[in-house]
Amino acid sequence: MQILFLDHVGSLGGAELCLLELASRLPGARVVLLEEGPLEAALKARGVATLVIPAPAHFHDASREGGLAQLGAAAAVPGLARQVAREAKTADVIVANSQKAFVVAALAGRLARKPVVWYLHDILSGEHFSRLNRSLGVYLANHHSRGVLANSEASLRAFRAAGGRAEVSIVYNGFSTEPFDAVSEAEVLALRRELGVEGAFVAGIFGRLSPWKGQNVFLQALAQTEQTRGLVVGDALFGEDAYAKKLRAEASELGLSERVQFLGFRRDVPALMKACDVVVHASTAPEPFGRVVVEGMLAGRPVVAAQAGGVTEILRHRETGLLTLPGDAGALASALTRLRTETGLRERLAAAGREYAETAFSHEEAVSALTDALETWLE
Ligand code: UDP
Repeated sequence: MQILFLDHVGSLGGAELCLLELASRLPGARVVLLEEGPLEAALKARGVATLVIPAPAHFHDASREGGLAQLGAAAAVPGLARQVAREAKTADVIVANSQKAFVVAALAGRLARKPVVWYLHDILSGEHFSRLNRSLGVYLANHHSRGVLANSEASLRAFRAAGGRAEVSIVYNGFSTEPFDAVSEAEVLALRRELGVEGAFVAGIFGRLSPWKGQNVFLQALAQTEQTRGLVVGDALFGEDAYAKKLRAEASELGLSERVQFLGFRRDVPALMKACDVVVHASTAPEPFGRVVVEGMLAGRPVVAAQAGGVTEILRHRETGLLTLPGDAGALASALTRLRTETGLRERLAAAGREYAETAFSHEEAVSALTDALETWLE
């Protein structure tokens, strides 16, 4: 099956990393991106035929939370759709990997007479999307798609709650153990030395810096614990630089300047996770999936995660990790202290988490879930 993926983002967000892994495992898959950025090179390095059709700035400026004032972005859609339709001529299906891409894909599909599928990586709730944008996504899904691939039960539920009636199939993100197993003990030790955290108990939070990702909760929890060093890995990817600045100020106000390091966006997440003793996820809003939770488990580290959204489909409390309530810095601080002081618990959760994540979230599972759904819908 010839799949043409379309994404409006050129940076390496979670949905884009998912696309990178999938596209490079589907023979004949091609990718069109509506923005330049590191994703293009990453796809090409994996041998995926990739074309960038840069959208005008006003298309990118429209935000998920935006209302009618953002409709200016719509002016760019017909022109982009025409170009995507041209690329779709030889494809069997267009799979849109983001909501903005889906708007363009819906029209491109009509122009090229090709079926369109939406890979939904978001929770369509008022926390993240304006009513206008939710209605638009749901309307297009119900009337102009063959089906919706949801990245979790949580995303599926929110889609239904928003009025989505289209066929839905769940396709979890896929991972391989290889990048984690390739990191040697010696490399981990060298990295810890480089970071100046040898011998310390280290907790790390991974993900783009964004208010709902809860890095502030992580800092507050660290301030309530002793003897724990913190790593904040990630950068503001989608224009949230003010929050990134505020976080640094908050760290020093909390007296954490000596204990917390901000490492920015890194490509060596597996090594960094292995350099931690605990991997923390602290999102304050429900996470559509939560790649970092699976990655922490694959790194063989105990994960403490916020109990909401897709995360509860990944991790079971006290079995494969620990869950704390979103926004509860005190509970996170207690979980960190428990993990620091109870070696047995730490080891048990890490081993069980790794074993579960390895089988539940493999690339093979992801590829077959996607191809099965497409084959059924395109019959
Ligand atoms: N990530 C990364 N470098 C960083 C921070 C994060 O490569 O500095 C990756 C992380 O390993 C994960 C992805 O970005 O694979 C984030 O995905 P997640 O589902 O956790 O959140 P999203 O960004 O999709 O909301």
